[in-house]
Amino acid sequence: MTTTLDRYSPILGIGAVARELGVAVGTVRLYENRGLVLAHRTATRQRFFSMHDLERLRCVRKMITEHGLNIKGIKQIMALIPCWEYRGGLDDDCRGCPVYSEMIGPCWSVRRVGAKCRNADCRQCDVYRMRVSCDHMKDVIHGPRRRGMLKAVDTPERSI
Ligand code: SF4
Repeated sequence: MTTTLDRYSPILGIGAVARELGVAVGTVRLYENRGLVLAHRTATRQRFFSMHDLERLRCVRKMITEHGLNIKGIKQIMALIPCWEYRGGLDDDCRGCPVYSEMIGPCWSVRRVGAKCRNADCRQCDVYRMRVSCDHMKDVIHGPRRRGMLKAVDTPERSI
């Protein structure tokens, strides 16, 4: 059987991610618990992360260590992402969604989202899968109106 691995495949344990970032395992756990990244959970609740998750966490570390932000500040920046533009545009469902009206955090970390997203698998969503670069956060926040950002979601890279 052929398994396709791509940058979204959960291949890294939490220890490997912590080593890559140069932080304690508990710090990675904290970032995940605060909704900055979505870990894949196995049936036994073990966390696994993809290369994309690692890239998101590198961005988080850069915002903390180079830009002086804290977790709350990072969440507020991520709350500015206009996720509705990736989910068919602004409609009444989105207008009633707390992600649209409040500054809680990235949409994937918010409970009680609108009907469109209620049962969605956020790890599969273009909003979560968007390539992130701390140097281009404005591109992320301005959404697909700029530079065709939807094209920034990768397709599978290799097969094993
Ligand atoms: S599916 Fe999840 S990540 Fe996508 S827009 Fe909805 S809440 Fe956000």
